[in-house]
Amino acid sequence: KCSKDDEKFEQGQVIPYGNIELSPAAGVLNYGQASLCNGLFEGTKAYRKEDGRLLLFRPDQNALRMKLGAERMCMPCPSVDQFVEALKQTALANKRWIPPPGKGSLYMRPLLLGTGAVLGIAPAPEYTFLVYGSPVGNYFKGCSAPLNLYVEEEFSRSSRGGTGGVKAISNYGQVLNALGRARSRGFSDVLYLDSANKKYLEEASGCNIFLVKGNVISTPATNGTILAGVTRRSIIEIARDLGYQVEERDIAVDELIEADEAFCTGTAVVVSPVGSITYQDKRIEFRTGDGCVCRGLCSNLVGIQRGLIEDKKGWTIEI
Ligand code: PMP
Repeated sequence: KCSKDDEKFEQGQVIPYGNIELSPAAGVLNYGQASLCNGLFEGTKAYRKEDGRLLLFRPDQNALRMKLGAERMCMPCPSVDQFVEALKQTALANKRWIPPPGKGSLYMRPLLLGTGAVLGIAPAPEYTFLVYGSPVGNYFKGCSAPLNLYVEEEFSRSSRGGTGGVKAISNYGQVLNALGRARSRGFSDVLYLDSANKKYLEEASGCNIFLVKGNVISTPATNGTILAGVTRRSIIEIARDLGYQVEERDIAVDELIEADEAFCTGTAVVVSPVGSITYQDKRIEFRTGDGCVCRGLCSNLVGIQRGLIEDKKGWTIEI
């Protein structure tokens, strides 16, 4: 817990999973003062290694992203050390539930909430930071199950000057409608366009998008309307190390037609190939399967996350 005035979070504790109590006037319920951060899910999960120890993937990056979100939402935020320590404690306390190597991992979700009561429009006087965890199976099947995306033109995910660039809980409520509609038509996810022009690619509901053309890999720039994914940043670095040219820029939806490959990155999907993208009732197909650029990128990333290949970048923390 932390009060608005002193901005320092007191030492927390590990308690059994259960409901939390909230005032009906809590800032989170009335003014959406909430920031969430997918602490450890797939790309940022706690993995059990062969030797029984656990691995966390770049939790400091999640901590920094929550800090940005907290600034945007007028909330105090735990320090990077407090954040990482909370993840370590949650992983250790749940160790017996973590599946064996290669069979799954522990999903951990840190939440930062305005829990103090507030009536007029203002930041809440008190805040709560918590992390909960759950064991999960492998969401993706060896980087191979292709996604099929639907380009959404009616609803936007975020707009310039809004909160799309931070992981605010309120960003997710507004995609449920478009996502549900796309899923009922057999699509795996929605690909959003920029709200001003409906021309440039942004991201999907829970992952970032990349296009591949020859040796060039492009992804939308993080200009405040898309989430700067930890997986996105890691893949950009891995791709450059492997000799690809990576561009972060505005990508017009018309460029989809010229791409050889498309793939999505995120904590949940890790690096998943995109088999097709449907735009204005035209289905654009992409190369998938063995030999794809995204396969190589995926196995490099997963190798580091699971401790199977040497982590030269110091991205993992062993506990
Ligand atoms: N965009 C959105 C909207 C997301 O919810 C996520 C998942 N956190 C991502 C991108 C990917 O971010 P990361 O790689 O950090 O999981």
